Amino acid sequence: MLRPKRKAELTARLTEIVGPENVIADETDMVLNAHDAWPLSESKIRAGELLPTADLVVFPGSTEEVSEVLKVANKMKVPVTPVGGGAGTCGGTLPIYGGIHLDLKRMDKVLAIDDDSMLVTVQAGMVGIDLEEEVNRHGYTTGHTPTSLRASNVGGFIATRSGGSLSSLYGKIEDLTLGLEVVLPNGSVVRTKAVPRHSVGPDLRQLFIGSEGTLGVITEATLRMFPIPEERRFRSMSFPDVRSGLKSIREIFRSGAVPSLIRLYDPDDTALTVTSHFDVKDGECMLMLGFDGSIAKNDIDESVSVEICLSNGGNDYGEGPAKRWWEHRYDMYYPGTLTTSGYAIADTIDVVATYDKLETVYHAMKEAMEAHAPMVLSHFSHMYPNGGSIYMIFFTSQLDAETAWSTYRKIWDVGVAACLREGGTMSHQHGVGLSRTTYTEGEMGSAFEVLKQIKKTLDPNGIMNPGKLGLGVKK
Ligand SMILES: Cc1cc2nc3c(=O)[nH]c(=O)nc-3n(C[C@H](O)[C@H](O)[C@H](O)COP(=O)(O)OP(=O)(O)OC[C@H]3O[C@@H](n4cnc5c(N)ncnc54)[C@H](O)[C@@H]3O)c2cc1C
Repeated sequence: MLRPKRKAELTARLTEIVGPENVIADETDMVLNAHDAWPLSESKIRAGELLPTADLVVFPGSTEEVSEVLKVANKMKVPVTPVGGGAGTCGGTLPIYGGIHLDLKRMDKVLAIDDDSMLVTVQAGMVGIDLEEEVNRHGYTTGHTPTSLRASNVGGFIATRSGGSLSSLYGKIEDLTLGLEVVLPNGSVVRTKAVPRHSVGPDLRQLFIGSEGTLGVITEATLRMFPIPEERRFRSMSFPDVRSGLKSIREIFRSGAVPSLIRLYDPDDTALTVTSHFDVKDGECMLMLGFDGSIAKNDIDESVSVEICLSNGGNDYGEGPAKRWWEHRYDMYYPGTLTTSGYAIADTIDVVATYDKLETVYHAMKEAMEAHAPMVLSHFSHMYPNGGSIYMIFFTSQLDAETAWSTYRKIWDVGVAACLREGGTMSHQHGVGLSRTTYTEGEMGSAFEVLKQIKKTLDPNGIMNPGKLGLGVKK
């Protein structure tokens, strides 16, 4: 926390930039802003713990204001934590060293729609669903449909390399972002041109995608759009085991068919997610497929996919389970469905690997995590021609806070260790934030030194989101 004199000086200087109505220093607001959707931060608050707070929340209204705020923060060496929708699941927005919470929500406008190139330029604070509905009115979709679409915004999506449920067809946000505007820690504004491909050195746009607020503040982005598909249809097949389901997914990609949605549930996740609505045999794995496109294209992709699944022992469930999942995908996030109480925590470790390692990573993580958690469920989603992600969900419930937090940490430690040991990568879409920060060096190996040098060059005073992404972690 800042000393009162420094805080008063900072408040006065920031007020000059954004106006008094856009600087908040009220203690209640600081406490309310001190957590995101990281289950540990939520659980600690439920247990009555006070988390570290920022000194001020600042709401800039333009790129110029962001630039001026960063110039002041850099000069005064005050930490800055950018805030998007605040729905990140890794503690990325937790202001662990105090300072400024820089909330981008006022910067929420579509700036341009380029019909010829199918591109939309948007401010970083626009919420995902508002952007999607706006481009829908022009006959397009962004193709980016994470289940946090209503809670997260464009800057947050880009800063965490997020992935939508239909990523097998449309790609993740790093595939969808063509151009960026970023304010660096010293206040200078950089823009990367929105072009489909280029040959002018390294792609600096990708340096900021996934930088989690540690290298600068994303203020604008130019994103791809796609014509709204003529039709979206679903198909579901069950398999006797994970292996035959994964084999089918690999063969579907090799055939040239490209489903938009691919989700393969392991037996435990099938039992929890599917069996209450559909009659699935014990031990079976449900594969959910979705197809976006023209009716003619979907006819071909669906029939090829079904043929492959049947040849691998698949059992046809028609559109039912997949369609139901799509229509109810938000339900579980509403209070009453997912609330845990006392010292209970449910969390997810989303990892990614190539097909040669995917099944081994799954079994190794499951075994390691089950040694400490009574329940571990998994599904393979976000599948691509060369591999895909595993969503390892665990649950733990303890009688006291200390055991709860240490058990929670243990499950993470052994889960990530097993993933890395078997050649996986520790996050596919949620990012690093605080929950994975201490594992970053182990994940990146010698490449971590490059990231550290980049950070040192762009942010010599270490003001940007210290403690996240393995950077500025106090030992
Ligand atoms: C119910 C629910 C469902 C979810 N489903 C998905 C899903 O399907 N797919 C998925 O990928 N994720 C999902 N998530 C996780 C989360 O929504 C994503 O990580 C999302 O991309 C975070 O965006 P946000 O705007 O909420 O970011 P925040 O939580 O506000 O910030 C996340 C990180 O990005 C940084 N940041 C934010 N804005 C900027 C900016 N403008 N410039 C620089 N840095 C910035 C922050 O400092 C922080 O480090 C889900 C979360 C919840 C709660």
